[in-house]
Amino acid sequence: MAHCDLCELKEYTPWYARFTLPFRFTLLDCDSCDTPMAVLGEHRKHPTPEERAFMIEALSLIGRKKYGEGEFIIDDVMRQIPDHCHIHLRPKRWRG
Ligand SMILES: [Zn+2]
Ligand SMILES: [Zn+2]
Repeated sequence: MAHCDLCELKEYTPWYARFTLPFRFTLLDCDSCDTPMAVLGEHRKHPTPEERAFMIEALSLIGRKKYGEGEFIIDDVMRQIPDHCHIHLRPKRWRG
């Protein structure tokens, strides 16, 4: 398998949490966007609906603290690494 930055997460940026249960994923600041993101702990493109919902819930906790209630969006478009599931949290007025 080719090298994947999301499989080898480095602690260059702040980490919020690393979940082991109910499944593995990490919440950290994305080093290219400088906004929080959730990264699935397995190299897979698609999360299950349960995994997706859980990661969005966890990101929303950070969003409410960092940007304020209703001031953030969930962005699941995978631009740079399209085959490893990751979901960004962005301030509402962000334009990609
Ligand atoms: Zn990967
Ligand atoms: Zn990013």
